[in-house]
Amino acid sequence: METTINANNISIDCQICFETYNLKDIYPMVIDCGHTICNICLSSILSSNNLRKCPFCNYVLRFDFLNQYSVNYVFKDIIRTYLEKNRPLESYPNYKEKVYDEGKYFGQMKDNARNGYGLMKYYDNSTYLGNWHYNNREGNGKCLYIDKSEYDGEWKSDLPHGFGKFRYGNSSGKKCLILLIL
Ligand SMILES: [Zn+2]
Ligand SMILES: [Zn+2]
Repeated sequence: METTINANNISIDCQICFETYNLKDIYPMVIDCGHTICNICLSSILSSNNLRKCPFCNYVLRFDFLNQYSVNYVFKDIIRTYLEKNRPLESYPNYKEKVYDEGKYFGQMKDNARNGYGLMKYYDNSTYLGNWHYNNREGNGKCLYIDKSEYDGEWKSDLPHGFGKFRYGNSSGKKCLILLIL
């Protein structure tokens, strides 16, 4: 399991059965050794006649029943953040669509301003998806530019600010980390 708190880069699939954690019927369970697998995989390990072992490291599991194991709460929070980020924009409260001089907006609005979470599709084909604060890009967001470069990170007053990841478009496609202090 990746432990990064950047919810964009995590795998939210069980690494054994590759089902996606949905926090409804598939959720992450932490086992004795510290590894995390889904409740379905853990159930099937517990109900098997073989020696009950962690599928990653073969550590022998102590308990017999699913309810004797704990949910991985840290990972659960990360998954929840990820699911929130990836849920359809239309399902957010105060979702609206609005046309601006520079493009079209799909997302949350307040007092007729872009505010909350939303997507801006600019007419030059660049896009921004992320947090807004009264028409400014502010919080966390990802911008894809026309040359296919992208910035994914923190924004303030409509500009990248704080910590983010910038990837060059076209040629190399290599990633680099940048720290911006403005
Ligand atoms: Zn599984
Ligand atoms: Zn293990």
